[in-house]
Amino acid sequence: MCNNSNCVRTRFAPSPTGFMHVGNLRTALYACLLAHSSKGKFILRIEDTDQARYVDGAVDVIYATLKAANLIHDEGPDVGGDFGPYIQSERKPLYAEYAKKLVETGHAYYCFCEKCEDETEGAGNSDPADDPCRAMDPAEAQKLVDAGKSCVIRQKIDRSGSTTFTDSVFGEITIENKVLDDQILLKSDGMPTYNFANVIDDHLMAITHVVRGSEYLSSTPKYNLLYKAFGWDIPTYVHLPLIMGRNADGEVAKLSKRHGSVSFENLIADGYLAEAIVNYIALLGWSSKSDREIFEFSELEELFSLSGLNKSPAVFDYDKLKWMNAEYIRKLSPEEFAARAKSFAQVEDTPLEAKWDMLAALLQQRTELLTEIPGKIAFLHEQPEYDAEMFNNKKSKCTPEIAKDILLEMREAFSGMEISAQAVTDLLTACAEKRGVKLGQPMWAVRIALSGTPVTPGGPGEIMELLGKEESLRRIDNALAKL
Ligand code: GLU
Repeated sequence: MCNNSNCVRTRFAPSPTGFMHVGNLRTALYACLLAHSSKGKFILRIEDTDQARYVDGAVDVIYATLKAANLIHDEGPDVGGDFGPYIQSERKPLYAEYAKKLVETGHAYYCFCEKCEDETEGAGNSDPADDPCRAMDPAEAQKLVDAGKSCVIRQKIDRSGSTTFTDSVFGEITIENKVLDDQILLKSDGMPTYNFANVIDDHLMAITHVVRGSEYLSSTPKYNLLYKAFGWDIPTYVHLPLIMGRNADGEVAKLSKRHGSVSFENLIADGYLAEAIVNYIALLGWSSKSDREIFEFSELEELFSLSGLNKSPAVFDYDKLKWMNAEYIRKLSPEEFAARAKSFAQVEDTPLEAKWDMLAALLQQRTELLTEIPGKIAFLHEQPEYDAEMFNNKKSKCTPEIAKDILLEMREAFSGMEISAQAVTDLLTACAEKRGVKLGQPMWAVRIALSGTPVTPGGPGEIMELLGKEESLRRIDNALAKL
């Protein structure tokens, strides 16, 4: 870890909304990678100043997501650090102090207008010329404050000229000052707005790189004016482009629910592995400048750099994520796959639970999403209705008549033997040899009789072992009755 005063310090500053949008997760990931790629510190700060939007349990979602995604913060409300508290509502008294300093230096003013009480977070007055408070004599304003009159504190912005700053991703940005509003810094209850708190905290927490969504680009000149008013250094800005989704007609639009799941939790519930999501998201706007796509987290921490960031909006491609997920599933050890897939498989308290490891081994190479598993194994719980026509299969040269003949012979043999996948396969191999046909033919007949479906994880031997002898024979008898 970096121990000198020049070390990179980044922060992830989520508002507790109750879910983690993939855009927020990408912000957190890039902030984490940027810090850790240069042995710096990654800080978690909870931005809960908009108490009206407070959602119970939302902070836990943030902790749980960061943990599941392996984004380990070096400082934060739960792990501590030298720059706390890391929850903005706990820093409340501090903001008023700084806002008053700005009033004293003429960079902010008290505003007593009644409508201010109703203004939502971040809203500013559209035309300062209309605001009598801006022009009020500071001594008179102070008298009203001392008398207990309710007020907010607004930033006093000089509307002439323009402000230029450089963003690491978007380059040089110039914004006309006339479009900047006298935004509220401190609300009447003493709570800061995001627009004020982010500047104070980024400075006090010694943040060197501000990584956040590009929606904050247009407000950045206002923040820079605040840094200047305090005489503080402006951090390096890293604004990230939007994440888009592809509409049914092929056009792209800001990623939203109509494109698919947009939160980390929902993607996990859809059967994606956390590490596949993180790997995929790492590439949504950053490139290692090679063709490689699969990266261990530690490799990302090593390779990440600002120069690999792209300013054009990335399109979230669910098919690509699914492909990557399958790659990650195949990379898991068999034990790890069995453990992770179990809750999706819904085998608890069923006869399959005892055979889960064997079943999991069959599923691992054939699964792209963990949510596919119940569908793939449903036939083991209950055989679906099927028609005798299903015994027809050109490739295996099987017909219902041939199947009947094979099943009569196999039923006899199965009933007198101990069932194991290997023993069943050996028997079917001998049966094919005796008949002078390919193994596919008896395999097909027995597979359909056991499963009623043309595609199964594993062959008839494995299915018989999973079903057990009694159930297997019952299913073969059913098939014979159909034939
Ligand atoms: N609380 C803001 C958000 O959740 C953070 C923006 C920032 O990173 O400065 O969007």
